[in-house]
Amino acid sequence: MITETTSGNRGLLQAEALIFESGHATGTGVDLPAPKGTPNKLGGLGRKAALDLPGFSEPETMRHYVRLSQKNYAIDLGLFPLGSCTMKHNPRLNERAARFEGFADLHPLQPTSTIQGALELMEELAHWLCTLTGMPAVALSPKAGAHGEFCGMLAIKAALEAKGEGHRKRVLVPHSAHGTNPATAVAAGFIVDEIEGDEDGRVDLADVTAKLGPDVAAIMITNPNTCGLFEPDIKKIADAVHAAGAYFYCDGANYNAIVGKVRPGDLGIDAMHINLHKTFSTPHGGGGPGAGPTVLSEALAPFAPLPLIVIDKTGGKHQLAFAEHVEELAGTGKKPFGRMCAFHGQMGMFTRALAYMMSHGSDGLRQVAEDAVLNANYLLARLRPHFNAPFGERPCMHEVLLDDSSIKPKGVETIDMAKALLDEGYHPFTTYFPLVVHGAMLIEPTETEPKRELDRFADVMIALAERVNAGDVEFFKQAPKLTPMRRLDDTRAARQPKLRWKRGDNASAAKHAAE
Ligand SMILES: *Cc1c(COP(=O)(O)O)cnc(C)c1O
Repeated sequence: MITETTSGNRGLLQAEALIFESGHATGTGVDLPAPKGTPNKLGGLGRKAALDLPGFSEPETMRHYVRLSQKNYAIDLGLFPLGSCTMKHNPRLNERAARFEGFADLHPLQPTSTIQGALELMEELAHWLCTLTGMPAVALSPKAGAHGEFCGMLAIKAALEAKGEGHRKRVLVPHSAHGTNPATAVAAGFIVDEIEGDEDGRVDLADVTAKLGPDVAAIMITNPNTCGLFEPDIKKIADAVHAAGAYFYCDGANYNAIVGKVRPGDLGIDAMHINLHKTFSTPHGGGGPGAGPTVLSEALAPFAPLPLIVIDKTGGKHQLAFAEHVEELAGTGKKPFGRMCAFHGQMGMFTRALAYMMSHGSDGLRQVAEDAVLNANYLLARLRPHFNAPFGERPCMHEVLLDDSSIKPKGVETIDMAKALLDEGYHPFTTYFPLVVHGAMLIEPTETEPKRELDRFADVMIALAERVNAGDVEFFKQAPKLTPMRRLDDTRAARQPKLRWKRGDNASAAKHAAE
C-alpha cells in the first residue's frame, strides 16, 4: 500500500480494503422485521457458526465499488494496447440499443410469440455474420471465442462420425496458436499434433502436408496469425487439408484485421468463431461477457447445434427449435450435434454487435479493418527504431509484435517494460505471447485510436527505451511504484494460489505490498 500519507489515500485515489475486511456481518442495508412464526424447514441442518459475510449500507456499498472501479484501467480511460484482445471503443449507441426494454427485459423461457422482435434481431445478426464471412450457417449460442472453438470442433466431430470416420483423432495446431486451440481440441476428444512455423512467422505448408494423413480430423489455424501476419498459403493449406479428408477450423479472434476485406468462406474454411467482443465492439475484460458465434461451411452446417431459429410455415412467425423438435427436423437434412448452453446465447451482446454493424454499414466495416491495420503499421514505424521487431521488415496486420532482445542485454525484460507502463498510466501490452517469439510484446491499437493517442503511447514507449539505453535499470526493477499494489510474486501466485480468503489473511499481503 501507499505509505506516504496517513490515510493511505493518494490524492483523489482512495485506499480501499477488501469488502470482507471492511464490512460487518451484523450490518445490513435493509430494514425489515425478522419473519415471525415461520417454521424452520432445514431439518436440523441450519448453519451454527456465523456466516461472516460483509454487511454494508447502500452508500457504503456504492463507495466501495466506485473506489475499486477507480483503480481499474478502462478503454474509456486510455489506449488499451493488449494484443490479440482487440480492446476497442464500445460505442454508446450499442449500449442504448441493448437497454431497449424489448431486448433487455426478456426472460429466456417466455413464449416465442412474445419475443418475435428478439428472434428477428438474432436472424438479422446471423445474416450479417454469414454475409461478411461468406459462410452459409452460423451457431449464435457459444458464449466466448473458446466456446465457439468447442462448437466448431464438435461440429467437425459430428460430421466425421456421420461419414463413419470417427477414427480420425489427430488435430494439427501451429506452435504459435493461442492456448485455447489445443485445449479445445483435447476437450473435444482429439489429440493435438503441433506444426512448425517457418522463419517468417507463418505456418509451414511443407510441415502441414507432411503431417496430413488418414487419421487427421482437422487443422486449427489463426488468420491473421498470432504474430500479426496474414497466412499467404491459407488457400493451399485448405486444399491440402480437404484433399486429405480433414476439416479446416480457423480461429477468428483476429478477424478485426480483415473484416469486410476477406471472406473466410472463400479461403476454404469450414468453421470459424467470431469474438463479438473483439471485432464487433461489445465490452469485455475481467472475464466477460463474451459471445463467440461460429460460422459453418456447407459441409458442417447440417450439424449446427440447437436451438435453431426456424420460420414457422403457417404464420410466418419465428420459432426456436429445441431438442424436443429434433424429430420434426428429420427430412430437413439438419442433424444438430446437441447444444452449447442452456438458452440462446448472449442476447445483450447480439444487440450491441448488430447495432455496431448497422451503424458502420458494409463500407464502414471495411474501413474498420483498414484503419486497424493502418494504426498498427503507424506504431510499428514509430517503435521499430527503438525495439527489436521480429518480422518487422514487412508491414504487419492489426498487431505490432516486438520482443525484448535489444533491451534484455541491458538488464530490462518484457515484464519490466510492462510494469513501467503501469506507472505511466497504461495497461500493458500482451506479454510473452505468442510463445514462438521469446520475450514477446504484442501491441494492438485498434482502429478506434486517433493519431494523437497513438503518438502519446509511442512517445512513452520510446522514452522508456531511451531510459534503458541510459542504463537506468533500477527504475524498471522498482516499477510499478505508483499503483495501489507494487510488483506481485506472479510465480508464487500461480504455484501456490490461495483460493479461500480467511479473516486476517490480507494483513500480510498489505505489508508485503508496502515493502
Ligand atoms: C481471444 C482469443 C481467443 C479466445 O477467445 P475468448 O473469447 O477469450 O474465449 C482465441 N484465440 C485467440 C487468437 C484470441 O485472441
